[in-house]
Amino acid sequence: MGVFDFFSADIAIDLGTANTLVWMKGKGIVLNEPSIVAFDRNTKKIVAIGNEAREMLGRTHRDIRTIRPMRDGVIADFEIAEGMLREFIKKIHSSWMPSRRIVICVPSGVTEVEKRAVRDSAEHAGAKEVHLIAEPMAAAIGIGLDVEAPVGNMVVDIGGGTTEIAVIALSGIVNEESIRIAGDEMNSAIIQFFKKNHNILIGERTAEAIKCEVGSVMPMKEEVTIQVKGRDLVNGIPKTTEASSVEIREALSECVQAIVNGVKMTLERTPPELASDILDRGIMLSGGGALLKGLDERLRLETNLPVHVAEDPLTAVARGTGKVMENLEKYQKVMLTSRRY
Ligand code: ADP
Ligand code: MG
Repeated sequence: MGVFDFFSADIAIDLGTANTLVWMKGKGIVLNEPSIVAFDRNTKKIVAIGNEAREMLGRTHRDIRTIRPMRDGVIADFEIAEGMLREFIKKIHSSWMPSRRIVICVPSGVTEVEKRAVRDSAEHAGAKEVHLIAEPMAAAIGIGLDVEAPVGNMVVDIGGGTTEIAVIALSGIVNEESIRIAGDEMNSAIIQFFKKNHNILIGERTAEAIKCEVGSVMPMKEEVTIQVKGRDLVNGIPKTTEASSVEIREALSECVQAIVNGVKMTLERTPPELASDILDRGIMLSGGGALLKGLDERLRLETNLPVHVAEDPLTAVARGTGKVMENLEKYQKVMLTSRRY
């Protein structure tokens, strides 16, 4: 161990569209917060990030705006995204202990320009080496798949902004599909459903809570009825309405179908040898969306393949990115890019 190793902590970052997780060498996950920034409209200065910024969502005055800079799997606002990354890095260690090496996991749809922006902000935060890795690759490693083997593995990572479907073999992504339908779209579908069928407007956080608690894909043993609070669209007054889990399932069905279609399309484009590996090994689901009740069963029915939900799907990508950071030499080939400064 060199002097630098003693005074620096190498880190890995899962820069997700919904959540950012940071892994520190030898420590594991040290930060897990929503990818949200609150900033001053006039000065563009960041006022809060993560949990603190989420508390401000929908409750700010006109000078403060909250945004999710990674929302659709692409960087909506470079300056803000860079600021968010910098603030998250700052949060986990003091200035005398900059991170020498950083591995960052990015959605696979990001462009070259966006990759550079992510790299630059890590460099500005003091990194001497920055490595980027694609989200489905990190998920596969986090799940514990042997990505270096000459065997095909299919990973479906359902996050907030994107669903990333990839077939991985020999340390590379053989084919992939990134669709803009994932957790956020499901929330919007629930909001639309209540507008159309119950004449009430509900907030995004309410929609998300409904999805996580009673959202489903397959008929449930016992369907449930829930009370939902919102604002009456006709007279503008707060009101409560009743909805059943059957209705919520209908509301989610279009999003679910889009994910199923994406998986089928990727399977169709998979070379036969690798397809036969997937037939034996099945499909692995990760990301928060993998927790939607019955999604695995539905995919099993539609593809006739074994489907497994990763253990702790919300942290799979962060654990994979962490593993890559702790074994940089071994995983050099899986990186999108590597830079030394
Ligand atoms: P990202 O990698 O894009 O940041 P995550 O993997 O952190 O996304 O997943 C976040 C998404 O998972 C959110 O849209 C959230 O609503 C969704 N999610 C979390 N828990 C559940 C659940 N139990 N059922 C359905 N969706 C869930
Ligand atoms: Mg993710």
